[in-house]
Amino acid sequence: MRIGVLALQGAFIEHEKMLSRLGVDSFEIRQLKDLSQPMDGLIIPGGESTVQGKLLLELGMMGPLRDMISSGLPVFGTCAGLILLAKDIEGGEAPHLAAMDITAKRNAYGRQLGSFSFSGEFRGLGIIPMTFIRAPYISRSNGAEILAEVNGKAVAARQKNMLVTAFHPELTGDTSVHSYFLDMAQSSEKFPAAV
Ligand code: GLN
Repeated sequence: MRIGVLALQGAFIEHEKMLSRLGVDSFEIRQLKDLSQPMDGLIIPGGESTVQGKLLLELGMMGPLRDMISSGLPVFGTCAGLILLAKDIEGGEAPHLAAMDITAKRNAYGRQLGSFSFSGEFRGLGIIPMTFIRAPYISRSNGAEILAEVNGKAVAARQKNMLVTAFHPELTGDTSVHSYFLDMAQSSEKFPAAV
């Protein structure tokens, strides 16, 4: 099993560390040609969605990545990664990969709750630690299954080959969400490597 980690900006190293703790090989995706390497899944890290979106466009990676995801590549987006995957962003901002039937509300917790930790129920995993950093939440879902909520707001969801969390499991010691994603990747049909 080999997982590609989008490494343009943000907290990608933490995901690589998490994968290595789980005994899974990973590699960094920094440019278009990296997308032609065989991979069983892709992680889009937290960071700044506008910056990552701009870089994806400039590097010519947005279209190919969108095609790979719509062809079934298992993908896990955390925080900014959730925003990049959403088909809609509240406030009229143009979507980026526009792959998942959710609406993301950016920086949704206001200034006072810019960063906070919480222990909450994740469907199928029980109570897990959740670290939020200027996080979005999912304000609407049209086809995605909601997997976790905090104060009545959806903070994790899955739709087919796509998993998103508004929080950062890679910043906690808990490997369960990554394991959940690896199970998704394992059970998906083999994704053709060619871009
Ligand atoms: N606030 C960031 C954004 O809108 C997301 C923050 C994060 O990824 N921790 O892109």
